[in-house]
Amino acid sequence: MDACAIGIDLGGTNCRGGVVGADGTLLAQRALAVGNRRSEEAIVALLTELIEALSSDSGANGASITVVGVGAPGLVSHEEGVIYQCPHYPWRSFPLSRLLQERVGLPVVIDNDANCIALGEARYGAARGDRNFWMVTFGTGIGGGLVHGGELWRGDRGLAGEVGHFVIDKNGPPCECGGAGCWELYASIRGIRRIVAETDTATLAALLAKAGETLNALTPERVARLADEGDPVARKVWADFGAMVGVGIASLVNITGIETFVIGGGLAAVWNHFIGAARTTLTEHIYSTIAPRVVMKRAGLGDAAGILGAAAMAARKDGGR
Ligand code: ADP
Ligand code: MG
Ligand code: ZN
Repeated sequence: MDACAIGIDLGGTNCRGGVVGADGTLLAQRALAVGNRRSEEAIVALLTELIEALSSDSGANGASITVVGVGAPGLVSHEEGVIYQCPHYPWRSFPLSRLLQERVGLPVVIDNDANCIALGEARYGAARGDRNFWMVTFGTGIGGGLVHGGELWRGDRGLAGEVGHFVIDKNGPPCECGGAGCWELYASIRGIRRIVAETDTATLAALLAKAGETLNALTPERVARLADEGDPVARKVWADFGAMVGVGIASLVNITGIETFVIGGGLAAVWNHFIGAARTTLTEHIYSTIAPRVVMKRAGLGDAAGILGAAAMAARKDGGR
């Protein structure tokens, strides 16, 4: 029997998992919507359900699972197996590793979700061969994973990665993290709704009529489709979104000197609509001699990155590969 790891990417919206072979082959894959199952107890139950389903899928393939890796959003301490806090969930010092291990009877290793995605892209995807890079994911919020010298940089207490919460405007709107004006309020799904909401009343009414949606039901997919059809307002929404992506990446360049950025998360699916504006704004906000050196590339693995990275991270900590 081949030794395998289960890798799970727990997002603010979806929870995706897979059974991963030693060579990175995805042997089985499943996804569950998190919905209202958001408490610590409900999340442990949801992950247990996903792991049990994946185990029975892979049992049919003759695989033996030795370890589980979970990438989760928020302040995740990889070493302690604890999630201190997460803006999208009501968790406080949540000992996920221990609780899940007790339920599934396998070692459970956890890390920040974007750290796992960074590992996945470094090992199998767009960041192969990059010794220094930032993985930045745009979806429900913004996630960040910094790889320096070929290793993840986790910060003093293993909690680095909350890059979505650096402050763009101290007088900005309140954020679920307890602060205000964080980058992820401007360059995430909520950021798109905010940009749409801030257009003038007549333009907003015309856009919503064309989309056939209310503002709260407006999805990035719908705005992207309108932009594909040539709608100038939808195109302007993506350009404004791209500007907020670029302004944030400019700060990451200026702080760390890292020049390679891998753009992932659900919104990377429509990166053609915003990457041009992101590049223009980035160039306006960094030194002119550095600007041509900065590379922004799209993640190569899509939803699989977090699964593959979480499995690789867990297998490595488990003493395997
Ligand atoms: P999380 O990890 O926080 O659950 P993701 O990074 O997976 O979030 O992003 C999910 C979101 O990305 C979806 O809610 C959806 O609105 C958006 N998304 C996914 N695919 C597309 C697409 N093809 N076009 C536009 N938006 C998309
Ligand atoms: Mg995610
Ligand atoms: Zn915040």
